[in-house]
Amino acid sequence: MKSVVIAGTIRADEALLVGMKMLLEGKTAIDAVEETIKLVEDNEDDWTVGTGGLPNLLGEVELDASIMDGKTLRAGAVAGIKRYKNPISIARKVMEETPHVLLVGEGADQFADVMGFERAELVTESGRDIHKDFLEGKGIVKKGYDTEESFKTKERYYKSFQRMVKDAKLMKWYKQYTESNHGTVNILAIDVNGDICCGVSTSGLSFKFPGRAGDSPIIGAGNFADNRYGAAACVGVGELVIRLSMARIAVYELSKGATVEEAAVNAIESIRDLAPDKGSVSIMVMDKEGNIAAACNWKNYYFWLATTENPTPKKIECIFVDLEQEILAEGYHR
Ligand code: ASP
Repeated sequence: MKSVVIAGTIRADEALLVGMKMLLEGKTAIDAVEETIKLVEDNEDDWTVGTGGLPNLLGEVELDASIMDGKTLRAGAVAGIKRYKNPISIARKVMEETPHVLLVGEGADQFADVMGFERAELVTESGRDIHKDFLEGKGIVKKGYDTEESFKTKERYYKSFQRMVKDAKLMKWYKQYTESNHGTVNILAIDVNGDICCGVSTSGLSFKFPGRAGDSPIIGAGNFADNRYGAAACVGVGELVIRLSMARIAVYELSKGATVEEAAVNAIESIRDLAPDKGSVSIMVMDKEGNIAAACNWKNYYFWLATTENPTPKKIECIFVDLEQEILAEGYHR
């Protein structure tokens, strides 16, 4: 029987015990990852994932999740789930039962409504007018399809949004606030067959715009797994991670011979490319042998690792990459 490995982010320690037990019993990496993440999603004290996750600008919780099977490179993801508590399981169903990779929720529709788009196949002239009125701050035209309640919701969102875009100070505060209140669970595992799975779940940035999806449901950004090389998953400001295709690049670096430490540090170093934009990001990278490292651009962060030899999750420090200092990583990819 081959050694098994499971690793997870900061609040996954207890759940990892369950995932580890499953792997030792010979269950697949996909089953272990899903079950471990479900437990984290159900923990109401974790305000960054699943039930109890911090809400969006309208006070609604919108959950994002993804799962990737390193054996087949199949993947499933959901964004903006509002009424179901285990988005990771829904993401797995997307992977296994549909021909699609990503399904998104009603948040995207609300945002589109507020932006003046009609619920129609084609953009009409009146749709264009509404959009123009919105951009000019003339307010929302109540449409035939609105109920009293949906109209009130729209109005609330519209007012917050208008205040935000008109007030640079408020927008700056909002950006800082949302970007400093968030978190994600990442679980990476290798099962007895050497198959790799990576799962990610989050409620995203707190008080995000309705319909905003981060990196977690974007395969290649917040999540990537490939049996031939390894896997990677991210925590942090998703916008930065998406722009850098971070998880995919880290696994690509493994394929070119980088160690897990190099791939993780290089991923964090690449945030420099986005200057002046910056924000906190962490990445966990695992190779196909089960070596794991994580890097991040803030201090005192860690992850949990359990293996066949040490099945009780052990705390491992993340490599701190100080982006305020000059480039330290030799393998920096640019
Ligand atoms: N990456 C998540 C997002 O942007 C948030 C986080 O990991 O803190 O939605």
